[in-house]
Amino acid sequence: MSGPQFPLPSNEPEVSFRQGTQAAVALNEALGQRDVVEIPTVIGGKRYYSNDVVEVRAPHDTQRLLARIHRPTEAQISEAIASSKAVAKDWASLSHASRATILHRASDIIATRKRMTINAATMLGQSKTIDQAEPDSACELIDFLRFNAYNAQRVYAEQPMSVPSAVNRADWRPLEGFVYAVSPFNFTAIGGNLTTAPAIMGNTVLWKPSEKSALANYIFFEALEEAGLPPGVINFVPGDAELTTRVALSSPDLAGIHFTGSSAVFQGLWKEVASKVDTFRTIPRLVGETGGKDFVLAHPSANASEVAIALIRGAFEYQGQKCSAASRAYIPRSLWNAVRQELRDRLAQLKVGDVANPGTFMGAVISQASHQKLSRVISAAKEDAAVTVVHGGKTWSDPGYFVEPTVFEVTDPKHRLMKEEFFGPVLSVFVYEDNAWNETLELIDSTSPYALTGSIFCTDRFALHHAEKVLVNAAGNLYLNDKPTGAMIGQQPFGGGRASGTNDKAGSYLNLLRWASPRVVKETYLPPREWQFGA
Ligand code: NAD
Repeated sequence: MSGPQFPLPSNEPEVSFRQGTQAAVALNEALGQRDVVEIPTVIGGKRYYSNDVVEVRAPHDTQRLLARIHRPTEAQISEAIASSKAVAKDWASLSHASRATILHRASDIIATRKRMTINAATMLGQSKTIDQAEPDSACELIDFLRFNAYNAQRVYAEQPMSVPSAVNRADWRPLEGFVYAVSPFNFTAIGGNLTTAPAIMGNTVLWKPSEKSALANYIFFEALEEAGLPPGVINFVPGDAELTTRVALSSPDLAGIHFTGSSAVFQGLWKEVASKVDTFRTIPRLVGETGGKDFVLAHPSANASEVAIALIRGAFEYQGQKCSAASRAYIPRSLWNAVRQELRDRLAQLKVGDVANPGTFMGAVISQASHQKLSRVISAAKEDAAVTVVHGGKTWSDPGYFVEPTVFEVTDPKHRLMKEEFFGPVLSVFVYEDNAWNETLELIDSTSPYALTGSIFCTDRFALHHAEKVLVNAAGNLYLNDKPTGAMIGQQPFGGGRASGTNDKAGSYLNLLRWASPRVVKETYLPPREWQFGA
């Protein structure tokens, strides 16, 4: 590949927001900002405001109105597709260096002048403490941009071999059509990746963010504009999910879907695309990273405190609303008393409340619907003879959607609490007999349809090696002696199999390969002038 070489980035370091620092002062100022943001639909650089408005409120303080989303009409969604088509050729013909420069400029804008605004929007809109927001809406978002720029260069450098009589090359073309990017609420950074991964490879993108993270996503979109992203390359379409999807999937130009969210929604998209596959010019590429029922397994050789801390951080950071959150644990009988005691002692100190207060560990869950679902699950568990409450179990909805960190012990390892994703601060524990290590491995592998993350605490090398082998398909990201959350771009490319998605490893070059359709060109130096072999 000709052109400048971008160096391997390093992960963006976290800024410290300890009380009294300049960063803490600036963040407080951003959190105190009371203007209600009008979030438009943006098509070809033009802003559209409508009467179809959805309000965005802070989940931990539902009186506080943060933003109003102006949803697009059906005609505007079609216009967005047309607008991306109009700019597609020009965008594809730009050099990698030009596209990468835009991503780098955007990453620097987020790292500097928009850092506090996007962190504050993520804290307020998605109810994250700064300890959860900074690694997401600043660091991971910045890393996605810089690593996608770098990894695209690696893809372009991949070329077929040439021989003395002919030269061969791969033209790394973008897909022929647009990519529909549908992002979830729980990480601001993911919206940044679902859009810019296809865009760095020369694709245009129709972006439907989650309504619940639209405020932070819109701030990121403005950073892209400020960085010089040409109008129409990514259109910001915060529309009704079903309507937007219907319009996107009605277009013969749909070339791919880049999705992160629940397994059920992704499976629905897949079925819909499959049912009309002959209507598209290109068979659409479907990339989806979806749900999880992530396990923590402790071996009798593990240290009880290390296990308890991993469970607390893995299950309850961001209220358990990480796809990678620990939600089922398998603890040996010999360790359980110590782990349970430590869980109770530590969880009793953990603060749930306003994310702006220093010392708060957990904010609110994202919505009333999520709160109602979790309340139902917890009430049913409390009534269930096969379940014991180890800690928590309270929920309240004033001033926001709060759920106490809750730990259940179940006697049935196939209980629904061990199988289903609830996406909240609920951890279920099954206590196994110390001599049932092999059976427990089989149990983990066969209990839930998901296979996203998992972690094993064990200091016995042979047992660890055996567990890794038995659980080979149980997780796309496996952690040894660590909690199952907190993947870093470039270090632990992320994604899972089975019902957890297509495992295309967000933030790595593997994901970028899905957004390219190489044309291979052979050019012969001297074409033969005789038809006989060997002539
Ligand atoms: P969700 O599936 O409810 O929504 C995700 C996106 O899909 C949103 O933009 C939403 O508006 C849209 N959507 C909803 N219904 C739709 C429909 N019928 N057609 C088209 N689009 C539709 O998920 P969420 O609540 O935003 O996020 C939580 C889920 O995401 C959890 O299951 C979590 O495990 C998963 N997740 C997975 C990963 C991963 O990398 N594997 C990362 C983050 C979140």
